[in-house]
Amino acid sequence: PVNICWFRRDLRLDDNAALYHALKQGLPVVPLFIFDPNILDKLEEKADRRVTFIHAALADMQEQLVKLGSSLEVYYGRPDEVFQKLLDKYPVQKVFTNHDYEPYAVERDEAIRRLLNERGVSLHTYKDQVIFEKEEVVKDDGKPYTVFTPYSRRWKATLTDFQLKSYPVKKYHQHFYKQPPQKMPSLSSMGFWKTEIVFPAKAMREELIRKYKEQRDYPAIHGTSHLSVHLRFGTLSIRKLARKAAGLSETFLNELIWRDFYHMILWHFPHVGKGRAFRPEYEHIRWRNNEQEFECWCQGLTGYPIVDAGMRELNATGFMHNRVRMIVASFLSKHLLIDWRWGEAYFARKLLDFDLAANNGGWQWAAGSGCDAAPYFRVFNPYLQTKKFDPDLKYIRHWVPELEELSYPRPIVEHEVARKRCLEAYAKALKK
Ligand code: FAD
Repeated sequence: PVNICWFRRDLRLDDNAALYHALKQGLPVVPLFIFDPNILDKLEEKADRRVTFIHAALADMQEQLVKLGSSLEVYYGRPDEVFQKLLDKYPVQKVFTNHDYEPYAVERDEAIRRLLNERGVSLHTYKDQVIFEKEEVVKDDGKPYTVFTPYSRRWKATLTDFQLKSYPVKKYHQHFYKQPPQKMPSLSSMGFWKTEIVFPAKAMREELIRKYKEQRDYPAIHGTSHLSVHLRFGTLSIRKLARKAAGLSETFLNELIWRDFYHMILWHFPHVGKGRAFRPEYEHIRWRNNEQEFECWCQGLTGYPIVDAGMRELNATGFMHNRVRMIVASFLSKHLLIDWRWGEAYFARKLLDFDLAANNGGWQWAAGSGCDAAPYFRVFNPYLQTKKFDPDLKYIRHWVPELEELSYPRPIVEHEVARKRCLEAYAKALKK
């Protein structure tokens, strides 16, 4: 008999909860990854950056496993069909995997659990991608928090060394199932192309974390970690990073708590992940949804330099600085009165670190419809934001080199006009 460890968004062999528990059992463990067409078919761009990233991370795991005399088994197919095949191929006793909190994943995992159980196999699941999950940090009455500050306070009060400890996977390496290297499906066999993109380094730079509080808001400085893609796909353990942050920077740790917070919100309020506002009254806003203006926003041609710089950075690199994400999101939903879901979907297509929980949280925060959101009457002024956070226009000039030339577009809408129009539309919807 064998056990299976099914990797999803935890693409690493070190400090991995499910893998640790699988190996510790003592039976040979078959490591598994499934490229799921239910997910891949939704990706419009065939040169998708995330698929390239995943493929590279799997190749890396494969290399390590081959050195151990084992091999990753990678399939392209619907998870239920793949598991049927695997159960025919191996005498499987147990399947181990880590929790995924997205609505699709929750349904998929329940279906797989049923399928396995019918064939006498048990599914064992673990917390791995966050420090605290589900009901671990809740209010005294057992209800989930919907406001960040009290949540973060309780999060910190609940934290002990235990949650930050790494799983000593290495101790059990001898239990990987021994077999010759198995071939992985190529990107092209799944209908994708490799993208030419430089992935952010997986480095926890101590100096950067130390200076994080002073530098994180300035997009012209490399003042944030760029680790989001590694946390998204689990090529870096959140426990390792949080352990480091806890000793160096409270502000940085706070960002990791935001990450836990939005995952917790998605778990308790799955409707936010299905295209609905956290606050139902925000469904009444009459969006203008001008398609031409949306196109200008996507291309970075709004005539608002900070917005255009951000969108161009996103299009070119798959990354955008957090401060600028807030500005462009606010601009789309408030200045242009375009449904935040359009922006959310565009980010989902482009961001290398796209994560349903954090992306949805960020968009609903900016549009005002989210839990603990910016109040609707606070409309970011892109000029003031620029003055504060890119005073020398260094970031803007990098992405918008034609800034002072005639070819640069005039503002798509005047700030004061847009602000008034937004306040009216919101007030009407919210009957304020
Ligand atoms: P750092 O500043 O170095 O922060 C460290 C880590 O903390 C990040 O890697 C990330 O995992 C986490 N983090 C930081 N800020 C947040 C936050 N506000 N919410 C949740 N986690 C956070 N982040 C994503 O990972 N994926 C997304 O799809 C995403 N979409 C966003 C959309 C909008 C509209 C906004 C306003 C924010 C979004 N964020 C998203 C949050 C944040 O912008 C990015 O996590 C951050 O910019 C990534 O850069 P970094 O790794 O250098 O972050």
